[in-house]
Amino acid sequence: MDPRHLFIDERLTGVCVYCGAHPDTRDHVPSKVLVDDPYPPELPVVGACESCNASFSLDEQYLACFLDCVICGGTDTSGLRRPNVKRILEVNPALKRRIDGSRRRQEPDYFLWEPETDRVKNVVLKLARGHAAYELYPKLEEPAVVGFVPLQTLSGAERSAFDQLATDKPELWPEIGSRAFLRALCKFPDRFEHSGDWIVVQPGRYRYAVAETGGVLVRMVLSEYLACMVSWD
Ligand SMILES: [Zn+2]
Repeated sequence: MDPRHLFIDERLTGVCVYCGAHPDTRDHVPSKVLVDDPYPPELPVVGACESCNASFSLDEQYLACFLDCVICGGTDTSGLRRPNVKRILEVNPALKRRIDGSRRRQEPDYFLWEPETDRVKNVVLKLARGHAAYELYPKLEEPAVVGFVPLQTLSGAERSAFDQLATDKPELWPEIGSRAFLRALCKFPDRFEHSGDWIVVQPGRYRYAVAETGGVLVRMVLSEYLACMVSWD
């Protein structure tokens, strides 16, 4: 069976996975700004309306740039690691200044960065809705939890709970025909590497995991720095 033509796709064509409107467009999850060129082949796509598809891109661009600046310790483009972030900041001095203005000096040589949490939350929830829809089914309602935190700030126990959550839930069976179902049968000819229950879209750059836990739990790690979790009861 070609995984791009599961019958779940047919349901998805009827709905924007972000707002429930008619989907005029298709949207990559994760969006390309969060992964590096050369892009992983056949990034997952979901149905989206034009207005949703357009409405997230500035926040996604902000988050991609903010993360690389934090990880690399500055906004000077010569010191950044991700070529597409360099390109964005080189042509967008206003964004560069805005990110630079979010640095808070703690010690002479030590800074903390203050993210624009509304924008980060907007992107994290959007990504989670996209992954839930792609792996299982659309989750349009408000989630119970939207959380994100630098991976490095988690304690050892928190980190292993985050990494290993919900790996053994044999009592919860994924729906027949969903990607999660085919993965459970190991019959999903996936082009992405797996690590435990994580799907590695691009090593070091983006991984995610979706689990049915009675509700739906989506976890994502961006640039092995930002740990994100969204759950629906
Ligand atoms: Zn929409």
